[in-house]
Amino acid sequence: MSTESRNWRELEQKIYMQVFKRNDLILVRGKGVKVWDETGKEYLDFVAGLAVNSLGHCHPVMVKALNRQSKILTQTSNLYYTIPQIQLSELLVKSSCLDRVFICNSGAEANEGAIKLARRYGKIKLNGAYEIITTTDSFHGRTLATTAATGQNKFQEPYTPLPTGFVNVNYNDIDAVKTATNELTCAIMLEPIQGEGGVNIPDDDYLKKVRAWCDEKGILLILDEIQTGIGRTGTLYAYQQYGVEPDIMTLAKGMGSGIPIGALLAKEKVSVFKVGEHGGTFVGNPLMCAAAYEVMKYIIDENIPAHVLKMGQILMEELNSLRGQFAGIKEIRGKGLMVAITFKENIATDIMNRCAAKGLLINNVKPDTIRLIPPLIIDERDIRKAVDILNDVLKERQR
Ligand SMILES: *Cc1c(COP(=O)(O)O)cnc(C)c1O
Repeated sequence: MSTESRNWRELEQKIYMQVFKRNDLILVRGKGVKVWDETGKEYLDFVAGLAVNSLGHCHPVMVKALNRQSKILTQTSNLYYTIPQIQLSELLVKSSCLDRVFICNSGAEANEGAIKLARRYGKIKLNGAYEIITTTDSFHGRTLATTAATGQNKFQEPYTPLPTGFVNVNYNDIDAVKTATNELTCAIMLEPIQGEGGVNIPDDDYLKKVRAWCDEKGILLILDEIQTGIGRTGTLYAYQQYGVEPDIMTLAKGMGSGIPIGALLAKEKVSVFKVGEHGGTFVGNPLMCAAAYEVMKYIIDENIPAHVLKMGQILMEELNSLRGQFAGIKEIRGKGLMVAITFKENIATDIMNRCAAKGLLINNVKPDTIRLIPPLIIDERDIRKAVDILNDVLKERQR
């Protein structure tokens, strides 16, 4: 079927729910760190499906696993054991500090499971405590409960009243956490580094202090590593860089390099779900698990996190060299390949559009902030190419 034959934009605007602020591009193909639109124009992809295409687009490891498994078994329901689900779970357990796994289809669904598990734990072990402390500028997903957990009013306001039981405090403020804790608190839920909120990096000892507070009070630490996990920050999981272990961790985005999958992990003592208390039809299906297993195994075996650390350093050096030339840059921050640039004015959308015109996709995560989250397999040459384009765009704007 020809893709040129119809006005896809017009059709989308007529029949699709208008919830997305889309760039005016129709992407039709991807390979590695590049994508192409329907006119054949090539782009360097520093969005990567929103930190999803960890091995880039259509990596042979993912494609082979999908091809193979699609001819063997794709869906059985969880009324039966399936081997890819168990293999992926074993890899998750072996590669992390957690003991038990529940596979699901998305980040929001993983967090929904984490919230349910923390409440179950509170009911059984903490005299019915159910409140979860979350932070400002956090992002935990689009379901009702994860919207309630998300500390950004713009996501909440259209849907009030939201599920109760969430208390929002300032990020990177241990005293705020302490003040908000009471006999109803069962958990604290955090992103090690906030992604959607603009790549906000906490003080080095923040997570340690939160962990110590959780231990003192006997409450749970839930780390939402949906964006920071799977090598994005230079270690397989970001908690490894902060000297803490979570009681519950959630993953999704980079797990399968482009397929929809997520995971909820917990320590043994916290894994209190009993038969029938959680589930899902598609969750942990063999097709997605086979692909995610091969992708994660590749990321671990090839030590991709070490590559991320190196490339992250190069990206940061290159960006810092821009800082001296452009007074409009307010701050450059990041860890590994999760990087943001904040400008003194609200020019992120303009920068994004100008970059796209020159063949670089980036994301305007806030009105004054752009985010760079390329595939983890990016090389030095493509990093320099991207920074050159950004340099050209900033120069063009100065004229
Ligand atoms: C993207 C994201 C989510 C939501 O994941 P979805 O797959 O979009 O539901 C939750 N938490 C964090 C930290 C994220 O970056």
